[in-house]
Amino acid sequence: MTDTTRDAGTEASIDRAVEVLAGRRVAVLTGAGVSTDSGIPDYRGKGAPTRTPMTAQQFLASEDARRRYWVGSHLGWRVFAAAQPNGGHRALAALERAGVANGVVTQNVDGLHVRAGSHRVVELHGTMRRVGCLHCGQVFDRRDLAERVEADNPWITMPENVELGPDGDVTPASAEGFVVPTCSVCGGTLKPDVVFFGEYIPLEKFREAEQLVHAAGALVVAGSSLVVNSGIRLVERARRRRLPVVIVNRGETRADARATVKIDGGTTHVLEELAARLPALL
Ligand SMILES: [Zn+2]
Repeated sequence: MTDTTRDAGTEASIDRAVEVLAGRRVAVLTGAGVSTDSGIPDYRGKGAPTRTPMTAQQFLASEDARRRYWVGSHLGWRVFAAAQPNGGHRALAALERAGVANGVVTQNVDGLHVRAGSHRVVELHGTMRRVGCLHCGQVFDRRDLAERVEADNPWITMPENVELGPDGDVTPASAEGFVVPTCSVCGGTLKPDVVFFGEYIPLEKFREAEQLVHAAGALVVAGSSLVVNSGIRLVERARRRRLPVVIVNRGETRADARATVKIDGGTTHVLEELAARLPALL
C-alpha cells in the first residue's frame, strides 16, 4: 500500500474536521505515526515486529543490559539524527505560527517537532537529544556523547538490517566489548532523557500537557493509536470539558468511540490540509 489513501471518505472526514475546528484554539497530541514519513518506523503499526523494550529496572540492574542498551541506542540515535521533519511536522509548526495550535504534546522522542519549528513542545516520553547522569545530574548533549561513544568503540558501524523502534532502541546481534559511556564529571551511570518502558511520565510533564488541553478549544490527536495511557487521559480531559476531539490515524485507536471526528488517513496529508484550510487566529 502506498501513501495515496486519499479516498472520498477520508476527504469528507477532513471537511468535517475543518468545520469542527475552525475558529478554535487547538491542542495537539502526536504519536509515532507522524514520524513514519520521516523514515522512523511505528512499531505499533501494522506488520511491526513484536518486541519487548528494556525496562529501567533492567537497565539499572546490570552492566550487560546497559551495554546492550547503549549499542542499540547509539545506532538508533544515528538514524534519528539523520531523519528529517516531514510535511506533517511542518504543518503543525505552521498552525502554531498562525495561532491555531497552542503547542504540540508528543509521545515521540525523535525531536522532529522542534526541528520543524514548533516552539511549545511537550515531550511526554523525553528526548534522545539529551543524556543525564543519574548520580550528579549533569546533562550532556547527545551529539557530544555520540562522538565519545565512537571514539571509544571505533568498530561501531550501522548494520544494514538493524531493527529500529521509535524509542530509538534496537536489538543488536552482540554488544560484546562495547565500552559503555559514563559521566565525564563523576564517572556515574548515564541514562538518555527518555521514559523507559514501564516507567512513569514525570508529573510536571503531564501537567504541562494538561495545561495545553485546558487552554484549548479542541484537541487533535495525530498518529497515535492511544495505546499509551497518558494519551487516553488527555483525551478524557478534553471530553470532560466537552471539547471536540479529532483523531487522525491510519487504523483504529483506543478512543475512536469518543472522537467527534475520526479521520482514517495519513497524518502528513491530513495535517497539511488542516494547516491550509483552518483560519489563522492571531
Ligand atoms: Zn555525574
